[in-house]
Amino acid sequence: MEIQFLGAAREVTGSCYLFQVDKYRFLVDCGLIQGTFEHEKKNWEPFPFNPREIDAVVLTHAHLDHSGRLPLLVKAGFRGFIYTHRATASLCRVMLEDAAYLNVKEVERNNRYRARNGKEPIEPLYTQDDVYTTERHFKTLDYGEATEIVPGVTATLHDAGHILGSAMVELDLAEGDLARKVVLSGDLGHAGAPILDDPAVLTEADLVVMESTYGDRCHRPWEATWAEMGEIIQSAHSNKGNILVPAFAVGRTQELLYVLGQHFQEWGLHEWYVFLDSPMAIETTALYRQYAGLYDRAAKAAKENHGDPFSLPNLRLTKTPEESMRINDIRAGAIIIAGSGMCTGGRIVHHLKRNLAHEQCHVLIVGFQARGTLGRSLVDGAKTVHLFGEDVPVRAQIHTVGGLSAHADQAGLAEWYGHFKKRPPVALVHGEPEAMDALAEHLRGKFQARVSCPEVGERLSLSSL
Ligand SMILES: [Zn+2]
Ligand SMILES: [Zn+2]
Repeated sequence: MEIQFLGAAREVTGSCYLFQVDKYRFLVDCGLIQGTFEHEKKNWEPFPFNPREIDAVVLTHAHLDHSGRLPLLVKAGFRGFIYTHRATASLCRVMLEDAAYLNVKEVERNNRYRARNGKEPIEPLYTQDDVYTTERHFKTLDYGEATEIVPGVTATLHDAGHILGSAMVELDLAEGDLARKVVLSGDLGHAGAPILDDPAVLTEADLVVMESTYGDRCHRPWEATWAEMGEIIQSAHSNKGNILVPAFAVGRTQELLYVLGQHFQEWGLHEWYVFLDSPMAIETTALYRQYAGLYDRAAKAAKENHGDPFSLPNLRLTKTPEESMRINDIRAGAIIIAGSGMCTGGRIVHHLKRNLAHEQCHVLIVGFQARGTLGRSLVDGAKTVHLFGEDVPVRAQIHTVGGLSAHADQAGLAEWYGHFKKRPPVALVHGEPEAMDALAEHLRGKFQARVSCPEVGERLSLSSL
């Protein structure tokens, strides 16, 4: 009985863990590797196992760094079920189809360039047809519903409070007389975040596999974050400018809409137009509406009292590119929420091009900005940026609101681990080495925990725990 760490080992993306129990093999997550071009090339490499010999997959949540290689797995011969929460299956439909669409477009562009240089065309990673086939493998579960996924292995999902449908996975494994319980945190939510419940508390495990994205950081308290956002909106109002908000379509966008609704009077939002300028965010917001049973108490109350926690009286949804372009003529009084979250593409880039040169414009950065992205350049104070072949001076005011994270910070991660009664050994995953090492030190100091940070490909025997 063993676990092998195949992705998100000493790094954040590409989550993938292979379990062997008796003669059965299954994966938890099968995510895309994301980052630089060189790094992403690894997605094209064959899996380090035979996909035909994988009996099942358990998927923690819909983010592509956890789900994005599932269509490749199916394409390579995987025949089993993909067990996941109902809401994750719904979100995956939107996200994987979008990923396939963007990849096909990018490869077409690339192939035109290759043809001009006499090079062979390349194939897309997968197409929308591959995604449709993958969707047929989903077997959906609710939180707390224990299911035998292969003989001797029972999986139970619990709310991870990270995005809609996100789950931590409790695995009960049996092989002959040997019984082990492994808990994987998945991406662990940030307690107190709007809309969703706080991460579930589990107390029993023989091994904990835990994420460590913010293992070296502490988030600002929520109240301070809301106060900061209110001040930015008010100062932009007296400046008579627009506010651009680059935001991820899943999670962050819904939190923003919800928080704007909650502070509508207080932040003087009736004086603004709010544009949700992203077809994918419009679709995922509809899914957040549909799964109201997963809200926390405050969001359920907001739904009771106002009907829809994501609608504002002055919200405009712009689906078509024409509608999006019309926003460009507005010089003041528009809050524009658009993707992508790190400004690496999507409609936000067009809005930035139109607005960055204006002193009255405010850019509100609410998410993590990776190195090398346009969003990061703005955060780092770039004086000019290069957009669509032009140098654009940055005169707009750039604000970074750090508290709005979808991941637990060091204190949150330690608190979650602290609920396990027998202080089981911990394997840290899903973090940059610095964050991981800081969290490992913290857990050793606070709980005398046995902490490891496995390398890619490393195996850990569960029999000898
Ligand atoms: Zn995630
Ligand atoms: Zn993740």
